Amino acid sequence: MQLGRFQIDLLNDGVMRFDGGAFFGVVPKALWERLMAPDERNRVTVNLNCALIRAGGKTILVDTGVGTKHPEKRRGIFAMAAGNLPDQLRQRGIEPEEIDYVVLSHLHFDHAGGATHYTGTKELRTTFPRAQHLVQRADWEEATSPNERNAAGYFEEDIEPLRSNRQLELLDGDTEVLPGVWCRRTGGHTAGHQIVVLEVDGRSACFFGDLIPTVHHLPLPYSQGYDLYPIELLDQKRRLLDQAVREQWLVVFDHETEHPAGYLERSGQGRLQLRPVDL
Ligand SMILES: [Zn+2]
Repeated sequence: MQLGRFQIDLLNDGVMRFDGGAFFGVVPKALWERLMAPDERNRVTVNLNCALIRAGGKTILVDTGVGTKHPEKRRGIFAMAAGNLPDQLRQRGIEPEEIDYVVLSHLHFDHAGGATHYTGTKELRTTFPRAQHLVQRADWEEATSPNERNAAGYFEEDIEPLRSNRQLELLDGDTEVLPGVWCRRTGGHTAGHQIVVLEVDGRSACFFGDLIPTVHHLPLPYSQGYDLYPIELLDQKRRLLDQAVREQWLVVFDHETEHPAGYLERSGQGRLQLRPVDL
């Protein structure tokens, strides 16, 4: 869809499955299983949504999905069926070489995995060879010196080639990377988690990353067990959702399967509802 001078396309690298308990944190299964039905291994299917933004001759990708590099065992644990992002770009007439910027909401493998791939001869390459990859410095630092709790979320082969290929640009907090294209550091999910906010002609669009991964995570207490800083996340979520409703932002959810984008409204009881739109 068109938002002012921005052309926005929703892309999908594929699907994978997360443990339902981990995906809903402290919410009891008796509640979340009514929203997302688990499989026999208690996993829920999530999309790996990415966004393509075009404006002023520049091409920006928001997140890259999980990609194709994962060994068989890991693919099985997460039921990964992904790696569609390059084809999805080509279907819209864009070659991976034409991407100018890749904004990574954070460096967890389900968002940064598609940024690199193995060639047919098993060489590790960046998928978007001309792109600068924009990452918050705090996220890079956390990802490259993880602790015992968060280490399982990062893989060196996802992120090290960005640095060694000089395709990495570290941001220190909120940054307007192109006119009207903001990377806003939220923290919460990880220390340097960022969202992308577009601002044009009094209208805005927001790509929430893992701050609010699906419409089922709109209620304030519904957040992921993977969140490293849950109280920070709660504060950011409360503030951003209020603003999104008040200013009628177009909102986009990274892991939502049914209604990845739309506008938020409050019902009579104050509950948030999404009015879906197609991107
Ligand atoms: Zn994620």
